[in-house]
Amino acid sequence: MTDEFENPLYYDDDADESYLDDKTVAVLGYGSQGHAHAQNLADSGVDVVVGLRESSSSRSAVKADGLRVETPKQAAKEADLVSVLVPDTVQPAVYEEIAPVMEAGDTLQFAHGFNIHYGQIEPSEDVNVTMVAPKSPGHLVRRNYENDEGTPGLLAVNQDATGDAHDIGLAYAKAIGCTRAGVVETTFREETETDLFGEQAVLCGGVTSLVKQGYETLVDAGYSREMAYFECLNELKLIVDLMYEGGLGEMWDSVSDTAEYGGLTRGDRVVDDSARERMEEILEEVQDGTFARQWITENQAGRPSYKRLRHAEKNHDIEAVGEDLRALFAWGEEAETEEKEKTRTTADD
Ligand code: NAD
Ligand code: MG
Repeated sequence: MTDEFENPLYYDDDADESYLDDKTVAVLGYGSQGHAHAQNLADSGVDVVVGLRESSSSRSAVKADGLRVETPKQAAKEADLVSVLVPDTVQPAVYEEIAPVMEAGDTLQFAHGFNIHYGQIEPSEDVNVTMVAPKSPGHLVRRNYENDEGTPGLLAVNQDATGDAHDIGLAYAKAIGCTRAGVVETTFREETETDLFGEQAVLCGGVTSLVKQGYETLVDAGYSREMAYFECLNELKLIVDLMYEGGLGEMWDSVSDTAEYGGLTRGDRVVDDSARERMEEILEEVQDGTFARQWITENQAGRPSYKRLRHAEKNHDIEAVGEDLRALFAWGEEAETEEKEKTRTTADD
């Protein structure tokens, strides 16, 4: 553990896997996170049972991976720790199903805090409520584990009924490979609110709007759709990769002086103080539950606006030009791979 940061940070040596020794872990859901947690836990020597509906098409995948599968209720009944890895919108219904078989001293484990934080699931006071949330899609959680590497993650304890919920959470984080990379302590509130704000204002919402507005500005001014696509969408990856590796500084160092001067003098004019005010509004809607209520109601109504917005996004001109251009890139990549294969074969000979 280090105290350099505001939130404590844990590594392998801080975690004791023996807290899972006599426990059976039920992993409910076998999607992105579910398949990775279940297999990593099993490879770490933990007794795992996967919980899926009788009708689930993932049942055969579980068996092919050498794991046991039961219904969510039966799996939860057998388990001391239940990891809830079905989609967030489905979790309240699945919890209703398993609540009768949760016993005092059991642990209810999540990978995102939404349903607990917004009161959609209200576990009884005699169970632990923990969160271990890898900061990565499931296929990377699995791949990293297999390569003896870790995936950074978050740990939070919302209810400590047994007095060792924190140790149990850390043991779980170790068993899925997160403490190899580092685990940050947080709360359900902090994880949920920062996650929602980040995906809405910056990562998913903010970035796509920036890309579309830039693309439309160029196309409306008479430039070609291909050039607009390259400039406003394709090149974004190169810029983000640099920021990921070495922060804003590495990006500014890597681009030309002209790009740096132009960006530094113009960026704040695009995303200005009024954008900042709207970010604060969006954060307030996350904090006061407005967004959560809206999303829950939207789901109850069969997702009408979600479907409409999704359809409009799919039909944006940038998607059509992108599809055509990416087909050309793929041709380029394949050629490159073939070239590499050739080199390798020659080298092996
Ligand atoms: P997912 O959509 O990939 O998989 C969910 C699985 O749940 C499905 O494969 C299916 O097996 C099962 N399922 C679906 N409907 C069900 C139902 N009605 N009853 C029972 N089982 C059902 O989900 P995911 O992305 O792995 O998300 C699981 C949890 O992990 C969520 O809380 C999510 O917020 C969190 N999380 C996801 C990621 C990510 O990158 N995907 C990252 C961190 C945390
Ligand atoms: Mg997220």
